[in-house]
Amino acid sequence: MELLKKVLSYFCVEFLFRHRSPRRVQKELMLEIYAAVKEGKHLIAHAPTGTGKTDATISAALTYTLDAGKTLLFLSPKISQHEMALNVVAGISKKHSLTVKTVEFVGKQYMCVHPLARRLKGEEFYELCKRMREKELCPYYCNYLEDERSSFWPLFGQSVISHDVVIAKADAIEECPYEVASELLSDADVVIGDYYHLFSPRSGEVFRKKLSKKLSDVVLIVDEAHNLPDRIRRVISYSLSTKALESAAKEAAGLDPEVSALLREASEDLKNVASSMAPGEERAIDRADLISWWPFDFTSFAEELEDLGREYLELSGKGKSALLKVARFLSGWAESEGPFLHYIHFWKDGATVSVARKALDPSVLSEEIFSELHSAVLVSGTLTPGEMYRDLLGLDPSRTVIREYPSPFPRENRLVLIVPSVTTRYSRRRPSEFERIAGELRRIVSAVPGNVAVFFPSYDVLFSVLPFADFAGRPLFVQKPDMKPEEVASILSSFRSNSSVGAVLFAVAGGSLSEGVDYPGSDLLAAVIVGIPLAEMNLETKAIIEYFEEKMGKGWAYGYIYPAVAKAVQAAGRVIRSENDRGVIVLLDERYTWKNYYSALPRDWDPVITEDPVPYIRRFWNQS
Ligand code: SF4
Repeated sequence: MELLKKVLSYFCVEFLFRHRSPRRVQKELMLEIYAAVKEGKHLIAHAPTGTGKTDATISAALTYTLDAGKTLLFLSPKISQHEMALNVVAGISKKHSLTVKTVEFVGKQYMCVHPLARRLKGEEFYELCKRMREKELCPYYCNYLEDERSSFWPLFGQSVISHDVVIAKADAIEECPYEVASELLSDADVVIGDYYHLFSPRSGEVFRKKLSKKLSDVVLIVDEAHNLPDRIRRVISYSLSTKALESAAKEAAGLDPEVSALLREASEDLKNVASSMAPGEERAIDRADLISWWPFDFTSFAEELEDLGREYLELSGKGKSALLKVARFLSGWAESEGPFLHYIHFWKDGATVSVARKALDPSVLSEEIFSELHSAVLVSGTLTPGEMYRDLLGLDPSRTVIREYPSPFPRENRLVLIVPSVTTRYSRRRPSEFERIAGELRRIVSAVPGNVAVFFPSYDVLFSVLPFADFAGRPLFVQKPDMKPEEVASILSSFRSNSSVGAVLFAVAGGSLSEGVDYPGSDLLAAVIVGIPLAEMNLETKAIIEYFEEKMGKGWAYGYIYPAVAKAVQAAGRVIRSENDRGVIVLLDERYTWKNYYSALPRDWDPVITEDPVPYIRRFWNQS
């Protein structure tokens, strides 16, 4: 009640909005964001497609930050999502005749103009860039160092600066675009970047220095925030294989035979341990085990390898070095106390062995960041249950507000069905069950007058159902593992162009055809989610479940069930992408009726549970 009063008290705030006026649900979201940001709280907002969340988040937060002299930081998981944010700020600046200094900041390798370095990727690029900077061999970097201007903003003559504009301008004055963009950060009102600029131990530190702000003066918007926990886990996880150790030994052979011998010994040690394991097996180890197996002190040996790696790069003229990879692994392992799973993996090839550290709890990195920020708004079309994201990321419950907004699209445009007659539970995975699933799919597809996408929990299940699939001559397109992006694009285009005859797509939930792809209008009339896309019950999944069970009694929910339902919801969300889209979502598994799975579905879905979906689907389309 108290909060509602506060929200209502902001009703008269004149928001910096680029359009004529916000829609009802958008206004509601803006009021809640403004209230949270003003009060120094965090907001976790599940805001389905069509809510206009990029406009709402930036408008509400910017209204506050410009007034309070704070910096607005908008982070997304992909560069492609920056354009929308840039357009929103540009639109606001124009409509309200404001100068909102805004810069898009992307990774160095996307901005580099050096003719040699820009052709490289990943580690090779970073190593070459680093070496050229250290030795002042990059003319663009040297020119930047010699540039004495006190501010780079006047160079641009505009206030909203995309990374393309930075590149063009920096190239024209022959300076490093990354350094020029960095110069703009400290004086920017709005910075648009990637998650890893803040949520990464190494890059985060560099970025914060360049930003020159205390986090208590920053309001953060996390776009597509459902990606953040896994992204952080990936950033602080790493592994090392015997292949890398052997490559490092080869590199060291001509430089320091003793070090080379130690690296070979380390590789043999791992193979000896794995000799009692079956190919494909993973086994948990203690962090101390590896330290006791290997014949060197991790910290000092890592320093030695670092020097040797640099020498190797210098002499060989190569772009990357396995010695540096091993060095980074050793120093990371030496410091990896905390909620991590350490394990040894004997690969299926029967020859390679690796050791890995997997992060279980993303909050080890993010909790401190969120506690320092003035406020953070986490927003996504799939952010339920909000409590899970709050706990995984370590947001303080006493300063976190969780909101779930309904879809703004007409309710009658969507039919959600749960069909509990089949399941993909492991105990029931046999040909007869796959045949029954194919039978249900046949009936469902026959009732839909257009394209249907069927999302499976794994390729295993997809290829088990496929032999029984028969859609009366409708074209069937099948996603396969390890498809190249152009092959995926080709499937998508064929599927779309067959909408007049009603094509069927078989794909996996959590894959490139179920997330981040739009199927507007007649491109997709129904999405069927077969089974529940649960994570494989491997060592890592078990460790996450155990960890969160012990930490907060929510191991199965946070480590297994909710992330799987979120994947299913993402895939199902492909159907309705605009106000005029109509579509059917079918959840095909008995477990969707179970309380722990059902409760993780968005509240406004209001599904019908039926063993006979066809009459519902026909009636829905007959009402068109
Ligand atoms: S310093 Fe700048 S221009 Fe030079 S290689 Fe690195 S990123 Fe490229």
